[in-house]
Amino acid sequence: MTGGLPVLIAGGGIGGLATALGLARKGIRSILLEKAASLGEIGAGIQLGPNAFHAFDYLGVGEAARGMAVYIDQLRLMDALTADEITHVDLGDDFRARFGNPYAVVHRGDLHGVFLKACRDSALINLHVSSEVVRYEQDGSSVTAQLAGGEHVSGSLLIGADGLWSNVRKQVTADGPPRVSGHTTYRSVIPTEQMPKDLRWNAATLWAGPKCHIVHYPLSGWKVFNLVVTYHNDAPEPVAGKPVSEDEVMQGFRHVHERAREIIRHGKNWRLWVLCDRDPTERWIDGRVALLGDAAHPMLQYFAQGACQAMEDAVCLSHMLDAHKEDHEAALEAYRAQRFPRTARVQLLSRAIGEHIYHPDGEHARLRNAIMSAKSQEEWCRDLAWLYGGTGLNS
Ligand SMILES: Cc1cc2nc3c(=O)[nH]c(=O)nc-3n(C[C@H](O)[C@H](O)[C@H](O)COP(=O)(O)OP(=O)(O)OC[C@H]3O[C@@H](n4cnc5c(N)ncnc54)[C@H](O)[C@@H]3O)c2cc1C
Repeated sequence: MTGGLPVLIAGGGIGGLATALGLARKGIRSILLEKAASLGEIGAGIQLGPNAFHAFDYLGVGEAARGMAVYIDQLRLMDALTADEITHVDLGDDFRARFGNPYAVVHRGDLHGVFLKACRDSALINLHVSSEVVRYEQDGSSVTAQLAGGEHVSGSLLIGADGLWSNVRKQVTADGPPRVSGHTTYRSVIPTEQMPKDLRWNAATLWAGPKCHIVHYPLSGWKVFNLVVTYHNDAPEPVAGKPVSEDEVMQGFRHVHERAREIIRHGKNWRLWVLCDRDPTERWIDGRVALLGDAAHPMLQYFAQGACQAMEDAVCLSHMLDAHKEDHEAALEAYRAQRFPRTARVQLLSRAIGEHIYHPDGEHARLRNAIMSAKSQEEWCRDLAWLYGGTGLNS
C-alpha cells in the first residue's frame, strides 16, 4: 500500500503525535509536518477519561502518561446559584474496575511532552516544524503536500491532524469555517495556595449557572489549580488566547453565588477563547487523505473528550492501516466508518449537555437538579459506559 513512501501527518498536536506513534507501533514510517516553529501545547489542564488510558497503553506511553496525572476522586456538579452540590460521580475503585482504567487530569504541556519524547525516540518518525501544509495533490500512487514555504513533500497517505482551522479539511470536506458557538471561555492557572482552602477538592468540579459555568481541578502534582469559566454571551467572532481583565471575566458571573464568584477573583492572567465546533459530517476521506482529531470532528469541550477522541482516532487508524496493509482505501474507509458515529455522538451531546446541564435557568435548571441528584453511582456508570468504555477499536 505505502510503496515505500512514509505517511504524511499535518499537525503536531496531541492527535498528530498520537498518530505518528500509532503508525510506528505498526512499523509504518511517518513525516509529521507542524506549522509552528516549535512543538508544544498552549492552555493548561486536560481531563482524561478511562478511554484515554487505553489509548496511552496502545500507543506505548501508558507508564509515562500515568506518571504525571493527578487521579481525582470525583466529578462534582454544583449549583452555581445556591452553592449546593447537585450530584457527583465517584471515580474510585468501582469506577476503575468497571472501565479498567482511571479518570485523571493532566497538564497539557506534560501530556504533549510524553508524546513528543516517544516520537523523538522513534526511528520511524520524522518531525518537521515551520511546515504549514497549505494544500495537497494526489495521483494513483502517492499524495504530495505543498508547504507554505513552497516546498513539496510526498507520501503514501496524508493525515490531516491540523486542528479546528484545518487546511487539509478545506480540501477534503470544503464545508466552510467552523460554527462560532457564542460561548466565551476564560482560562487561568493559579498556585494551589491561592485557591480558597475549602474548595481545594480532589475533584473536577463544575458549577452550573444560568448561561455560565465554572470548572476547577488540581494539576501538576497539586502545585496549581486549573480554572476554566465559560459564559454564553453570544460572542459573534472566533477568538483564541486574548488576555482579558478580571472585571471582564466577572461580567458573566454577577448573578451566581458569592462562593462561585470568589473562585474567579482568585484567577490571574485570564485569557479568552470563543469556542467553535462543527456539525458532524461523514466526509473525512478524499482518496489518500483522511482527517483526524479536531480537523475531523471539532467539539465543544463539555464532555472533556476532544483530545481523548483524537487519541482514539489514532488507535483506530493505526489498527486499520495494519489490518488492511495492501489496501489503503479499505483501511481509511474502515477507520471512517468506525469513528464517525462515535465522534458525531460526542460532538452533538457536547452541545446538548451545555444547554441542558451546564447553562439552564429557572424550571429547566430545577428539572436538571431533580433528575441528576436522583441518579445512583450505578446509574452514572451505566450512562457513561458508551463513552468511557470505548477504546477506538470497539466502537
Ligand atoms: C477550553 C478547552 C478545554 C478542553 N478540555 C479538554 C479536556 O479536558 N479533555 C479533552 O480530551 N479535550 C479537551 N479539549 C479539546 C482538546 O484540546 C482538543 O480536542 C485537542 O487538543 C485536539 O487535538 P488535535 O491534535 O486534533 O488538534 P490541535 O491540538 O489543534 O493541534 C493541531 C496542530 O496542527 C498545527 N497546524 C494547524 N494547521 C496546520 C497546517 N496547515 N499544517 C501543519 N500544521 C498545522 C497546529 O499548530 C497544532 O499544533 C478542550 C478544548 C478547549 C478549547
